[in-house]
Amino acid sequence: MIARVSLEIALRKEFDYSIPPGLIGQVEVGSRVQVPFGPRKIYGCVTALAGESARANLKPILKVIGAQTMVTPKVLQLARWIAEYYCCAPETALKSVLPEAVRKKRETDEGWKRQLFARALPPTGEFPRLPKRQQEVWNLIEERREILLTELLELAETTAATVRKLEDRGLVEISSEISERDPYAREHILPSRPLLLNPAQVTALQRVKTAMDKSPSTLNPQPSTFLLHGVTGSGKTEIYLQALAHALEQGKGAIVLVPEISLTPQTVERFKARFSSGKLQTLVAVLHSHLSTGERHDEWHKIRQGRARIVIGARSAIFAPVEPLGLIIVDEEHEHTYKQEEAPRYHARDVAIMRGQMEGAVVVLGSATPSLESYYNCKKGKYALLELPERVDNQKMPHVRVVDMRQAAYKEKGPPIFSPQLKEAITQRLERGEQTILFLNRRGYSTALQCPKCGYVAQCPNCSLALTYHRIEQKLSCHICGHNEKVPSVCPNPKCKNPAIRYAGTGTQKVEELLGKLFPTARVRRMDADTMKRKDDYRKTLGDFRVGKTDILVGTQMIAKGLHFPNVTLVGIIYADLALHQPDFRAGERTFQLLTQVAGRAGRGDVEGEVFVQAFAPFHPAIQYARRHDFTGFYEQEMEFREQLKYPPLSRIALLTLKGRNEDKVKFSAEHLRKVLGSAVQIPQSTAGTANAKPDHELKIADFRDLVIAGPAPAPLLRAEQFYRYQIMLRTRAMSKLSQALAKIIETLALPDDVTLAVDIDPVNLG
Ligand code: ADP
Ligand code: ZN
Repeated sequence: MIARVSLEIALRKEFDYSIPPGLIGQVEVGSRVQVPFGPRKIYGCVTALAGESARANLKPILKVIGAQTMVTPKVLQLARWIAEYYCCAPETALKSVLPEAVRKKRETDEGWKRQLFARALPPTGEFPRLPKRQQEVWNLIEERREILLTELLELAETTAATVRKLEDRGLVEISSEISERDPYAREHILPSRPLLLNPAQVTALQRVKTAMDKSPSTLNPQPSTFLLHGVTGSGKTEIYLQALAHALEQGKGAIVLVPEISLTPQTVERFKARFSSGKLQTLVAVLHSHLSTGERHDEWHKIRQGRARIVIGARSAIFAPVEPLGLIIVDEEHEHTYKQEEAPRYHARDVAIMRGQMEGAVVVLGSATPSLESYYNCKKGKYALLELPERVDNQKMPHVRVVDMRQAAYKEKGPPIFSPQLKEAITQRLERGEQTILFLNRRGYSTALQCPKCGYVAQCPNCSLALTYHRIEQKLSCHICGHNEKVPSVCPNPKCKNPAIRYAGTGTQKVEELLGKLFPTARVRRMDADTMKRKDDYRKTLGDFRVGKTDILVGTQMIAKGLHFPNVTLVGIIYADLALHQPDFRAGERTFQLLTQVAGRAGRGDVEGEVFVQAFAPFHPAIQYARRHDFTGFYEQEMEFREQLKYPPLSRIALLTLKGRNEDKVKFSAEHLRKVLGSAVQIPQSTAGTANAKPDHELKIADFRDLVIAGPAPAPLLRAEQFYRYQIMLRTRAMSKLSQALAKIIETLALPDDVTLAVDIDPVNLG
């Protein structure tokens, strides 16, 4: 017997090993193994078993790691698809499907935390009379039957010696046991019961359940991917919960993906509460980046062992080893954070759909502002559209007012932060004891340090980007590479040296400061990447806001989603069109989504909410459609623009980025790659089959009828972290085919040593 092994070193190749007699029966597809590789011992994953190998003298596998296979054959198949479609090395794809915390553990058990427990033993004979102290300790142990030793010592205010005395008497056993780290152990969660659904919810849930009831083997003409389009507060989460219950009833498990930023304790609790008791009780495992390595290890194994049947997590939770898998939910499916920005550059929503197809699981995508891609797929009949047009509580959508900042700017001689209308509205809220959220998608004090005399702007020495001014720390910092420097006292331009160097633009920090001046008695808190550095900051700031200790919350997109605060009746968006000016064809879509989401924060209680959108381009369609809460209107007009330029969803994009420290070399390499691509397209069909036929990949590329190659051009952010970046953009409808052709081209492409190529299929970030 032979095992094919993908090693954990980037070789884009698999190797055959023999299975020694002692390990026969233990090595399976998906097993993690240790193998000899040259003089080294290396870990890898078995991807196939075979009877024989093309090579002789195979070395034997040394060890099998873990009692269970780490990667299930189904997840392995998914990793294969990722490597192919996203054009990356198979071992890179394989690596991403197992959390580091699980992969790093070399032997069975090692990842588990061992701790001492004290356990009451069943009494034998008459219970002895104990000294008072020992009796108290015994009572505590007996009451709990088993208790963590450290916890016991703390509770009983005693020492280990006392407990040992009880052990000597044969009343108690102290033993080292695996203690699972539960990141939510401190929370007290009250069970929740299913709500009675309203008619729109009933229809939506029924269709999902019907699809789930179809066995995967029957030919299924109905699409089994759903797009649940419903405004915030329309009851989407309740549908998820009831669909999850249905999966459990079927004896299956499920995965719920939420964006990292929405994975708040509040969200997790809603899911835990529903499945913490009753017939369908199961553990709900949580996977996200704030867990410690140990916690992540334990959560993953709870899933692998089938004890946790529901997994809730961010992007990479899509690889959770749930088996059998009945349902995948992708909440806020339009979120860009579902796309991984390093290899493998997968999009978790698209991986979810692929995994659903592979395993016969139903996929539900949910959003108040679906991506154009998903909505388009509904129009084409690939997904089924489910709509929840109204809020559950029949609350009105907040009233949105767009404030034309050009007029305000004119009156105030320079762009102001607060229009008179917004100032007035904040004053009213303070008087009425209601709360306000102010949103600005930019942290720091101001964007740039600019000299009013010569126009000098402080730039990052590593990136082609202006530095951001942070007033309290008195520093300039780069939000790309983290470079920091002191604020100059005079203009650094040697010809200028103006001492009155000024700060252009506005950041959250400046908004906070100005609020202090305008409303000295108001309690203001700021929430952005600078103030939320520690694990608990987020929870604490929101907790204070919830109980009314804060009047005004200022923040970046961190506060844009998923928060329910009934007492918030005013939302102000300081510069709504900031995102419109990004060099990206999705700028309008992003602005629409952001405005809709932020506006959804207002008026979740009894009082109707009010939203002020301050903009310098008040008539931009993204702003106007958001004002009217009109998603379909926005979709139709935005599709016209995408159609004209053949941008997604009417095509798919492959973005090739060349990177290096030497700009000329990067540029030259990009032009070379462009030629290789171009000549591949121009090869006439008739050369096929002739004696000196061109390599296979060139013919394949020639088959593309709709392929557009744009560039090379400098990336919108030309220089980042000292690297220059040039890009080539390819657009086609046949992306799987293009990925395959690209993989072959890359294999033979010769680049200078210090220039690297990154391939991004379906990029969401064009910078
Ligand atoms: P969404 O996920 O679309 O934002 P939720 O599912 O969170 O909406 O619902 C918003 C609020 O309405 C929640 O407090 C939820 O408990 C409540 N809710 C949802 N469905 C119902 C229902 N059928 N009856 C009563 N309350 C409901
Ligand atoms: Zn920088």
